[in-house]
Amino acid sequence: MNKIYLDNASTTPLSSEVLNEMMPYLTSDFGNPNSLHSFGRQAKAGVDLARERIAKALGCDANEIYFTSGATESNNWALNGIAKANRHKGNHIITSKIEHPSILETCKKLEREGFRVTYLDVDETGLVRIDQLLHYVNADTILISIMAANNEVGTIQNLQAIASIAKEKNVIFHTDATQAVGAINLNVHEMGIDAMSISGHKLNGPKGVGALYVHNGVVISPFMNGGEQEFGLRAGTSNVPAIVGLGKAVEIATRDIIVNSKKLRGLRDYFIAQVGKYIPMTHLNGHPVQRLPNNVNLSFGMVEGESLMYMLDLAGIAVSTGSACSSGSIENSHVLTAMGVSPDLAQGAVRFSFGKNITKEELDFVVEKLIECVEKLRKISAMSKSQVGKEDE
Ligand SMILES: *Cc1c(COP(=O)(O)O)cnc(C)c1O
Repeated sequence: MNKIYLDNASTTPLSSEVLNEMMPYLTSDFGNPNSLHSFGRQAKAGVDLARERIAKALGCDANEIYFTSGATESNNWALNGIAKANRHKGNHIITSKIEHPSILETCKKLEREGFRVTYLDVDETGLVRIDQLLHYVNADTILISIMAANNEVGTIQNLQAIASIAKEKNVIFHTDATQAVGAINLNVHEMGIDAMSISGHKLNGPKGVGALYVHNGVVISPFMNGGEQEFGLRAGTSNVPAIVGLGKAVEIATRDIIVNSKKLRGLRDYFIAQVGKYIPMTHLNGHPVQRLPNNVNLSFGMVEGESLMYMLDLAGIAVSTGSACSSGSIENSHVLTAMGVSPDLAQGAVRFSFGKNITKEELDFVVEKLIECVEKLRKISAMSKSQVGKEDE
């Protein structure tokens, strides 16, 4: 069976270009970049090049890039480190209700430590309410953290507007750009972004590596204490092959941004149109146009997303759901809930996230299978409803 992977928002395959770049550092060039001999210098050159590549892609200086174990760590560090180091200036943090758990859980922890956190609402398309941001930002606010693009529904925030408000109010602005690198242009200096998290495995790089950009002048407390790695703020021997891979992956993603996003946008809109044409009672979650080129999030009325996901899996198609079944009860996605999607539709939500190499033929096959699966599930659902009705009589 030819499998089709439509879960690239969860993770992506490693590109061969990236693997080739990593290979020497997994074999012959194994040195510790902190060693002064030739082995060490060889490894350090790899790390330095990766830092320069990322800085060039993001429009910042190389000494503003800190390597981490991924976006979860970058997000934890950004929030904890900036909050702690700037507490003398204020006690208030602003974020949104649709952030990744690595932001939301860190905010909850900061609340337990005495910080005040405001969670901004979003509109029905998933856009953060700028009017609320303007309303809540005050002299006590030290940090605003709003994601660049949402991982579930793909909505791309008005990042420039938020960055400008932060600048005007003299508040540090962090953004989780894990889903946005390679999809939208991110020039951090030009846009006035103070801190930004990225991850390797969401852009065809390796897992377990990411980076945090921190603008020179922004004070942040260290994440790990120990050696002098990462300018003394994140100690521990560098994961050289992964860092080299991240550098290459970011370089490729930004190099190919125009051609990839144009192609994906076309296929995304084609897919949405085809599904809408052949399957009644479907609803597109997220912004109709201001969304990631590779993200389609659909709710199918009278269908449970989880059942549909398993059925598509049997047909060799990998997607993910908007809700997670935890200990028997279905917990709806906090993102869809914040957008005001009804519990019924939220339970029918399925996310299709395309890879760079997706083809129209593959999407036609997916639509074909979707028609079959949704029809089957709706029949079962209608049958069980009439069954319940009978028992009630
Ligand atoms: C995947 C993801 C993360 C977490 O990244 P890891 O590198 O897997 O820790 C954080 N934020 C967003 C928006 C993501 O999509």
